[in-house]
Amino acid sequence: MGYNWGMEIREGVPIAELTTMRIGGEARYVVEIRSEEEAKEAWEFAKEKGLPIWVMGGGANTIGRDEGYSGVIFLNKIRGLEIRGEEVVGGGGEIWDEVVLAACSRGLSGIEALAKIPGTLGAAPVQNIGAYGQEVKNVLEKVRVLDLSTGGFREFSMEELQFSYRKSILNSGETRGRYFVTRVWLKLNHERMKPPFYTSLQRYVEEHQVSDFSPMSIYNMVSEIRGEKLPDPKEIASAGSFFKNIYVSGEEALRLKKLGVLMWEEGDGYKINSGWLIENAGLKGKVFHGFLVSEKAALILINESGESFSDLMKAKEEISGAVEKKYGLKLEMEPVII
Ligand SMILES: Cc1cc2nc3c(=O)[nH]c(=O)nc-3n(C[C@H](O)[C@H](O)[C@H](O)COP(=O)(O)OP(=O)(O)OC[C@H]3O[C@@H](n4cnc5c(N)ncnc54)[C@H](O)[C@@H]3O)c2cc1C
Repeated sequence: MGYNWGMEIREGVPIAELTTMRIGGEARYVVEIRSEEEAKEAWEFAKEKGLPIWVMGGGANTIGRDEGYSGVIFLNKIRGLEIRGEEVVGGGGEIWDEVVLAACSRGLSGIEALAKIPGTLGAAPVQNIGAYGQEVKNVLEKVRVLDLSTGGFREFSMEELQFSYRKSILNSGETRGRYFVTRVWLKLNHERMKPPFYTSLQRYVEEHQVSDFSPMSIYNMVSEIRGEKLPDPKEIASAGSFFKNIYVSGEEALRLKKLGVLMWEEGDGYKINSGWLIENAGLKGKVFHGFLVSEKAALILINESGESFSDLMKAKEEISGAVEKKYGLKLEMEPVII
């Protein structure tokens, strides 16, 4: 049709280059999106080509398949961050950790324990990111999205997003993948996190006799703890936690307690750290088809020399198979497969 597209469109880009796990074949098109206008234009481009759309931020929770993706990847680069009082408003392509740091440096609380989580602001509500007892759902006010099935913009409130553990309407049910988050509103506060904290943070506080629980202090402590334990995506290929934690209740909890499984009371039931299960199944430090079960945090799978998606799936089956054999629990993968 001879349309002159204003945005940058690249063809045949390896998904490995766009994701922190660094595997996956070529995406047919990748469009860098810097504004809501470009988002609409990119939507028209995909429509004209008759191709499906996949939204990506930092690729820190995304795994590419060997065959790649025969559609259009929208790479979210919509920037712009404003902090007015306790409200933080930003473009979905803002870097999450930069948002956290900006908020903490103004004394704002609510996301300080989510320091150093790789990825973008727009992806944070998708799986309701969480760490050290904080979750983004507790501070999210609303989001603006481009509806990829109609091409129109709309807003969703926190309630409408129906958050739960690593879940929202953005990544589940019929609405999974339907909305592109272009802008996010967070409502923070001037409170302070109070002890006792989540295990490793509490241990740090005690060992270093910390009494300053200001957002900036928590940010610095969490950054240090994470720096020692978690791989830096710039240097080491991984997608962070490869498996989700498990929630159980009633008789299932009793059965597992008898097996000596460590669990924490949460809500109406118990939370089991899947990393503990993997470690106690004797898999820590072992390599499966080029993927290493991290020595420092068994929930993390590091891509040492894994070359393909099929290798990764073999590793996943072997790890979850060993855990199931020992504890009768099925591990569920956390990252999303494109
Ligand atoms: C070392 C490491 C540590 C990590 N630690 C944590 C942790 O402590 N807690 C935690 O919760 N997660 C953690 N993660 C996972 C990851 O950082 C988060 O899921 C993060 O939100 C991913 O952001 P991203 O921009 O890279 O998302 P991507 O990987 O690009 O996308 C993830 C999913 O969100 C969708 N998506 C992305 N952007 C948008 C958008 N703008 N609109 C709609 N859909 C979108 C994608 O389609 C995909 O389904 C970790 C990852 C790594 C590598």
